[in-house]
Amino acid sequence: MFDFSFGDISVTRIVEMEMPMLGGTEFFPDWDPQAIERHKDWMVPRHFDPVSGKVVINIQAFLIRTPHHTILVDTCVGNHKPRNRDMFNDQVFPWMDNFRAAGVTPEDIDFVLCTHMHVDHVGWNTKLEDGRWVPTFPNAKYIFSRKELDFWMQQSEQDQMTRTGDYVADSVLPILEAKRELVVDMDHAIEDGLTLEPLPGHTPGMVGLNVTSGGEQAILCGDMMHHMIQCHIPDWSTVACADQSAARVTRKAFLDRYADRDVTIIPSHFPNPTAGFIIPSGDSFAFRYVNG
Ligand SMILES: [Zn+2]
Repeated sequence: MFDFSFGDISVTRIVEMEMPMLGGTEFFPDWDPQAIERHKDWMVPRHFDPVSGKVVINIQAFLIRTPHHTILVDTCVGNHKPRNRDMFNDQVFPWMDNFRAAGVTPEDIDFVLCTHMHVDHVGWNTKLEDGRWVPTFPNAKYIFSRKELDFWMQQSEQDQMTRTGDYVADSVLPILEAKRELVVDMDHAIEDGLTLEPLPGHTPGMVGLNVTSGGEQAILCGDMMHHMIQCHIPDWSTVACADQSAARVTRKAFLDRYADRDVTIIPSHFPNPTAGFIIPSGDSFAFRYVNG
């Protein structure tokens, strides 16, 4: 029961929600209606809702099964969490049912990897139990990049979270209190064939996960790009990027590195089926889903 396999490593998507979520003009500071017009054929309606002006975003986790470990990458928004945005606030998503439907229990997870510490990547790290936030996956070590953890432990970064709600307090700190964290360098190897790949910019310590097995390769690239339009226009960073120009540099290098290669790219937020290939297109790039 999995969506994709690479050698003897499988990847299963555990979706929390997919919908037109973020206003294009609000999310992309460089949003240009004329540029969008040129891409309307493929964007509407699957990637962009012209009525609301919102881009379609998928929020999901990825279950990785290897012969040795069961790993969960990114943990969505979560349930019952106090947030300042309605779409994230005090939600009751059926995500845990979707997780169990993949044939696993919370006890099965050996590692949780947060590619970075944004509200939609740390939510299910914890669950509410007797009024306290406790680790959802009791046997897991939670892998955080040192640089990312340090960044979010600075008070100034905590202040920035007033916009979204203090998700570090309910979704990261309880992991540290329970001593379940594994703080690593940005090129850490989880096991043979599962290695972190530094993708700084969107946040300073963001990492991807490089999956290599049996001569096949995939990369879960977190929020290196949020939307397919960024393959066509790699210059566009988002308001959610901590450093928009560093995010741009990382994205361009990534697209150059993996274009026209037999490497499956799995960005966090691309709509179903999410995974695909970067292909050259004109003087830029395009994204071709695995199923065409
Ligand atoms: Zn995200």
